[in-house]
Amino acid sequence: MNKKAFNTQCIHGDEKKYDTTGAVSMPIYQSATFAHPSVGESTGFDYSRLQNPTREHLENTIAQLEAGHKALAFSTGMAAVTTLMTLFEPGDHIIASDDLYGGSHRLFHHISMRYGIRFSFTSMADPKEVEALIEKDTKGIFIESPTNPMMQVTDLRQMALLGKSHSLLVMVDNTFLTPYYQRPLALGADVVIHSGTKYLGGHNDTLAGLLVVKDVDLHEKLSFYAKTIGACLSPFDSWLIIRGIKTLPIRMDYQQKSALFLAKWLKEQRQIKHVYYIGLEDHPGYNISISQASGFGGMISFEVTSESLARQILEKVKVIQYAESLGGVETLITYPMLQTHGDIPKPEREAKGINERLLRLSIGLESVEDLLKDLEQAMEDG
Ligand SMILES: *Cc1c(COP(=O)(O)O)cnc(C)c1O
Repeated sequence: MNKKAFNTQCIHGDEKKYDTTGAVSMPIYQSATFAHPSVGESTGFDYSRLQNPTREHLENTIAQLEAGHKALAFSTGMAAVTTLMTLFEPGDHIIASDDLYGGSHRLFHHISMRYGIRFSFTSMADPKEVEALIEKDTKGIFIESPTNPMMQVTDLRQMALLGKSHSLLVMVDNTFLTPYYQRPLALGADVVIHSGTKYLGGHNDTLAGLLVVKDVDLHEKLSFYAKTIGACLSPFDSWLIIRGIKTLPIRMDYQQKSALFLAKWLKEQRQIKHVYYIGLEDHPGYNISISQASGFGGMISFEVTSESLARQILEKVKVIQYAESLGGVETLITYPMLQTHGDIPKPEREAKGINERLLRLSIGLESVEDLLKDLEQAMEDG
């Protein structure tokens, strides 16, 4: 058992050493292939699509941080989800959050369904509703909590219990809170998914994806699919995520503090109709959040009074940048309707609240006063 504190684990990572120089930073093993000591022998590394020391260090580190057994690192978060979906067969049925990252929504609707996997989408707010959807061929539950961009919170313990009693694979996308604030495997889930592009990398400079599991056999299966599909993370990108993880706790605490401050401020502004931040006590998921996570993160969605004001804010921000993505040191503002969720049919999108007045903020590490002033000037006369 690893008894080190979380932040120490983030900095030191997995203990296994790969070289003898005493290098403090994990070396980047930029090698496609590895020579064999003799016929039938291996150093444990054969070819970098299968294993690579730098990637393995990242995988073992995130497995420990997520309280899992093993992890696999992919070139993007979507490569991780795509590989995960190969566990399912034609005819299998999956129950998924109805408010998902746009890319996962696109994958399920445009690819997984074509291969015969069936989905039911539901809010995940009420375990009874989820249970009512379970059929003979239901094999999995796919959850994001909090969801992107509507910040709905799901009771992960309840879902894990439900999954267990019906032998369903419980998969949780933990991109928004990271293991620093939430550990779904410890709450009973089977698979954790990450877009490492976001908080784990943390600097808006690389793409990555991760799957973390508790079960040894499940890891074997997924490694087979991962090496066969080949969407693995490169040694250099692995190193960037290793480096990002070192400062994960300190970044997230600072981002959360600024996010809470800005969420409260936004709520008071006459141009704002609604603020979705799970750290606000009147958020419907507040109590569940407190019971299963140790923090609220740095993501805020908010609805302004008109579409023209939403567009004005996007045009006028100066410190905050109008760009897709989240979790980095730079504060970004997103227009979900046009960007992350642009491919979702309008009626479906609007029913969820992803309308032309909704904006999403990912709070970075700039001075919170500068962020506030920037929002204030961008909202002026709106
Ligand atoms: C960004 C994101 C993904 C996809 O990750 P990529 O690295 O962009 O492929 C999946 N889930 C969530 C919640 C995300 O924010």
